[in-house]
Amino acid sequence: MKQTGDLNLVKKINKSIVLEHIKDNAPVSRAKIAELTGLTKATVSTLVNELIESRMVYEIGTGASSGGRKPMMLLFNQAAGYAVGVDLGVSQISAVLTDLKGEIIEEYQTAHNNESIDSVISKLIACIRETIQRAPDSPYGVVGIGIGIPGISDDQGNVLFAPNLGWQDVPLQQRVEQEFEIPVVIDNEANAGAVGEKQFGSGKNVSHLIYVSISSGIGTGVIIKEELYRGVSGFSGEMGHLSIELNGRACRCGNVGCWELYASEQALVDEARKQWNDPSVDLKSLAQRASNGEQGAIELIQQTGRYLGIGLVNVINCFNPELIIIGGSIVSAKEWLLPPILSMMKQRSLPFPRAQLSIVFTELEGRSTLLGAASFAISRFFASTKVIVE
Ligand SMILES: [Zn+2]
Repeated sequence: MKQTGDLNLVKKINKSIVLEHIKDNAPVSRAKIAELTGLTKATVSTLVNELIESRMVYEIGTGASSGGRKPMMLLFNQAAGYAVGVDLGVSQISAVLTDLKGEIIEEYQTAHNNESIDSVISKLIACIRETIQRAPDSPYGVVGIGIGIPGISDDQGNVLFAPNLGWQDVPLQQRVEQEFEIPVVIDNEANAGAVGEKQFGSGKNVSHLIYVSISSGIGTGVIIKEELYRGVSGFSGEMGHLSIELNGRACRCGNVGCWELYASEQALVDEARKQWNDPSVDLKSLAQRASNGEQGAIELIQQTGRYLGIGLVNVINCFNPELIIIGGSIVSAKEWLLPPILSMMKQRSLPFPRAQLSIVFTELEGRSTLLGAASFAISRFFASTKVIVE
């Protein structure tokens, strides 16, 4: 009996290897897959036929022949199913529906005022439901939901701590899975953002990158050697809580002087409200004033840029990344932020890790986390190889 079990497992593994090759190399022939994988042509042929039957793969036209009969080419059926990616922000919930290659099919957004945990979760569920309802018919339907959260979660998808939402120990994965009976993956929004940038954004051809998400707080996602770095228990990347002031402001994390209290959108807006004695100021109006040439607004943003630069110096000296991508809502002030960031880096970071470094702002227009979250859901679907076999 044991041997049969092992053979089934080997078959499942081989089938997912074949599928992986078709996803990465399509259009590709059976012969080429055999050559790339080292599996026999007969094995590849059997597995491909099963993949065609399960509608994960389809045949198209004929490819170039190296002599003899021209081969049928295989394509991955990216419309075999769909995934939902969600970005749970402190005042807004965004969602996308993607196909199995992560291409966006639909988008949906809704605001929330963070009245209570239950009110946010019911808005979140309504947002996901709206997105799922827009999915076209497909063999596998919606295969998973990925949610990026502004905080720390554990392996079971409990939100342990999300200070800017005011959440502690919220069983979010369980709540959403109960509602939809679809697998749910919860992860930090900056981790998701880093993966989104790696797969679809400026990080595509980069092995070592750090994504810095700057909105009401600061989160970071670290990719080392192509992989998201999570640390021993999944809590790495909390660089918003780097201490940068000895006797600094008190942070909701329990420490004082944390980077995000000086360099986040919230810090910038709070400072402007205080200086101008005007509680209606927001990032949009600040950026508008700056683009009208108002010196006071420009100086406030530049000050935030200098604080951003100081934190980034620490990041650069620690990690020696090839690329730092800045995302989050702060991007709307990028033209005034970049010069002070670069000048702080030049003044303060070690010259060696700086030499091969590029700093860019995201080009994914607020979708880094959404794409990464959908990608987590898709990866989880393919990791459960039994869905492909059975
Ligand atoms: Zn803190």
